[in-house]
Amino acid sequence: MSKNAEVAENIRTIVKAHHQWMDECLPLIASENVTSHAVREMMATDLSHRYAEGQPGERYYQGCTYIDEIEKLTKKLGRQLFNAKHVNVQATSGVVANLAAYTALGRSGDTMMSLHVPDGGHISHSRISAAGVMDLKVKNFIFDPREMNIDVDATQKAILVEKPKFLYFGGSVFLFPHPVSELRAAADEVGASIGYDAAHVLGLIAGGQFQKPLKEGADIMASSRHKTFPGPQGGILFTDSDRLKEKIDNAVFPGVVSNHHLHHLAGLAVALAEMLEFGEDYAAQTIANAKALAEALYERGFEVLCEHKGFTESHQVLVDVTHHGKGTRVAKALEENNIIINKNLLSWDRLDKSVDPSGIRIGTQELTRLGMCEGEMEVIAEFIKNVVIDDKSVKQEVIDFRRDFTTLNFSFTKGQKAYEYIEFGD
Ligand SMILES: *Cc1c(COP(=O)(O)O)cnc(C)c1O
Repeated sequence: MSKNAEVAENIRTIVKAHHQWMDECLPLIASENVTSHAVREMMATDLSHRYAEGQPGERYYQGCTYIDEIEKLTKKLGRQLFNAKHVNVQATSGVVANLAAYTALGRSGDTMMSLHVPDGGHISHSRISAAGVMDLKVKNFIFDPREMNIDVDATQKAILVEKPKFLYFGGSVFLFPHPVSELRAAADEVGASIGYDAAHVLGLIAGGQFQKPLKEGADIMASSRHKTFPGPQGGILFTDSDRLKEKIDNAVFPGVVSNHHLHHLAGLAVALAEMLEFGEDYAAQTIANAKALAEALYERGFEVLCEHKGFTESHQVLVDVTHHGKGTRVAKALEENNIIINKNLLSWDRLDKSVDPSGIRIGTQELTRLGMCEGEMEVIAEFIKNVVIDDKSVKQEVIDFRRDFTTLNFSFTKGQKAYEYIEFGD
């Protein structure tokens, strides 16, 4: 074997080790998911080599006969699943979808109102990322950390003072539906549009188990497609507005995307079909699991946020671990035991504390895909307590526990191994 062939082989070995590790872990990162074999098959096709700039039937390149068919079908499934008049399936990530939404809703120098990052806003809602790239002025929603939601009265007043060009709801810490309908009148009073970033909760919206942003007054819903929605990575945008449809399409291409990752497009079509079939049950079980896990952690002495509101109405659980050595220590200790979560800023953290924030964020969507239910959440809460509070190692117990949950639920291909490494041979 040549030296270069050895390097290539070594990469394969490393990736296989990653697969093996994932198969022995509890995947609890709130922004991740695992795709079905049907979706992964699409991602490994010739479509990954092709270009299809423009809209179906109006491409700039030849060779798009079947790609046009796929894209039209994907859009039809998207409109159907989300009950939306228009959909754009060409954004290559959630941040790119946001950038396109900003372009459709405003122009540089305009004021956007969104969540501050420690309150749960995504970095792309701030000036260090996409909002800064577009040179938007950013004002923040007034946040009530006890309720873990936007303070409607205070924000109403702020909207009337700041007169933003548009509001941008949604976030990366997202326990409860945002007050879109409640703030629509204030937005109208100052002529502001409304965008909604559904990246975290798209799968819950698809399953009809969270709010319906477009029906509540959002003009655009922009999103990634790989968090609670178990699709290939990428972005997606929806609107019911005929006025905004073309603006969105042009903002994506040629605005911020040239080619739109056609293997992920085909995978998205399959994921949309899966969610039409299984989305309601999957989303309901994901939320039930989050509530069960929150309750079980709370009973074991953890400071789980929002006990007075039933902890959560999404896939997420937020825990203040200040008294357990803070976020960094807790996240690392859990990782050593194959329990994968992330440390997270809480409202009372300052932005410069992101290296060692007070909280951890846990998501139940991937465990739900693996077929876990409320009973398993009790077991996992006990593992977490053993590690964080009792300083005990549970790595082997976690590996043994995971052996009963190796296949993927809510998929057309029954019995499929969730983290299988797909081989093409030599
Ligand atoms: C994850 C996330 C994004 C970014 O999605 P990418 O596909 O990683 O670019 C945007 N908005 C919110 C609210 C997110 O949580």
